[in-house]
Amino acid sequence: MRKSLKMFFGVFALLLVTICVMLFRTLSVSKPTETRSVADQVLIVVDKNLVAQNLAKAVQFKTVTAQNREDTDWQVFLDFQAWLLETYPDFYKAVQSQQIETYAQFHVWQGSDPSLAPIVFLAHQDVVPALEADTGWDFPPFGGVIADGFINGRGTIDDKGSLIGLLEAADRLVASGFKPKRTLMFGFGHDEEVSGSGAKAIAELLKSQGISPYAVIDEGGVITTGMPDVKGPVARIGVAEKGYLTLVLTARAQGGHSSVPPNYTAIGALAKAIAAIEANPFESGLDKVSIAMLKATASEQEFMGRLAIANLWLFKPLVEKKMREIPTGRAMLGTTIAPTIIKAGFKENALPRDAVAHVNFRLHSRDTVASVTEHVRRVINDKDIEISLSGNIGAEASPISQIGSGPYLWLEDVVNQAYPGTIIAPNTVLGGTDSRYFALVTNDIYRFAPYVLDASDFSRFHGLNERMSIENFAKTVQVYHLMLKTAGE
Ligand SMILES: [Zn+2]
Repeated sequence: MRKSLKMFFGVFALLLVTICVMLFRTLSVSKPTETRSVADQVLIVVDKNLVAQNLAKAVQFKTVTAQNREDTDWQVFLDFQAWLLETYPDFYKAVQSQQIETYAQFHVWQGSDPSLAPIVFLAHQDVVPALEADTGWDFPPFGGVIADGFINGRGTIDDKGSLIGLLEAADRLVASGFKPKRTLMFGFGHDEEVSGSGAKAIAELLKSQGISPYAVIDEGGVITTGMPDVKGPVARIGVAEKGYLTLVLTARAQGGHSSVPPNYTAIGALAKAIAAIEANPFESGLDKVSIAMLKATASEQEFMGRLAIANLWLFKPLVEKKMREIPTGRAMLGTTIAPTIIKAGFKENALPRDAVAHVNFRLHSRDTVASVTEHVRRVINDKDIEISLSGNIGAEASPISQIGSGPYLWLEDVVNQAYPGTIIAPNTVLGGTDSRYFALVTNDIYRFAPYVLDASDFSRFHGLNERMSIENFAKTVQVYHLMLKTAGE
């Protein structure tokens, strides 16, 4: 009796200590109040209507890249570049410029201190198509119409907002007499939306010159508001980017009349293969980036959320389960599987001799192109199904950039100064950006454009009614100015 009583108290005490530790950890979750300041920098004054007009003008150049290079109107890119030269004369005078792959631009603003590694700012000139006849647009997609406080049109967010924002900022910085200590480089790719060959060539050029940048800054993360995980503003710094792979599965079988089908049919075998891939998902779970993201945003969660995040040693499986319930959460945790194309058959009473499917994978950093291909081969377990890589780009997941040290601290400083009180959280970018090629020369790639986007704006990316508010764009120019200045000092 005494022994069991002792045990009861022992278990009770242990439980009490555990609860106390959990509560202590939960209550110590607080919004970061520390605001480091690089200096007493203030944002410059920007004529918001003037910069809005320039972004609107940039939209009017239909720099649309078509899937096949020969279907693209490349003259428009040259016209666009002539306009940039005319509009940002101070910038173009200060930099050494090179045309890369004819249409991409690489500019170097030489710094005075050769011991400082350069920093690279990327933005792409091209945009995805938009049907002018599509009645879903409130304004013509290439009209660059300014109305109701917004600049409307394709590219205002992706990615002319960054490109023009950087040029507006850099042009002003040159005009102010600023001389950078650190070399500032600018890479303006011409085909990000199809392959990124321009950015790739710029990265290879740096490699050939033995240059390893201090950091590369590109699109991919923004300041979000109204998101499902956190409603308030969060600066999402993309410290990692998922890889990309499409596998083509081809099933072959005897064709013939459908009245006497064999046991093995091309369509049947292909269907089983796709079902097998979907039934065997890749390893999924929290990693360094998603844990840092959760911790950074924990203060915005309700008590139970904070309790779980502060005590991942106990609640990790529960948090992962919750995240898997939403597609973006699931995509952050592991390699995703998406069958995107299927082609087979030509007549309802004839068996096709082959059936082809494309399955697109976005690779988590724990997987590689080789390991995903091997996994697929194993789970399909049918030697008669041919597995090949699609001719399109395949890319390994990016390295993970420094979080909480190095260039990350500089970005934190910029955000703290420009958007005081904003939460700053690292993030994995789920799509692809030009910056992936720069893994060749540095591990420190940060995907962050300083605009504020609301949850409802995300459907405008590559979608209808892409737009940027005049206020938002003017602020973008101011923040890029701060970024360039503090990077160059
Ligand atoms: Zn883009």
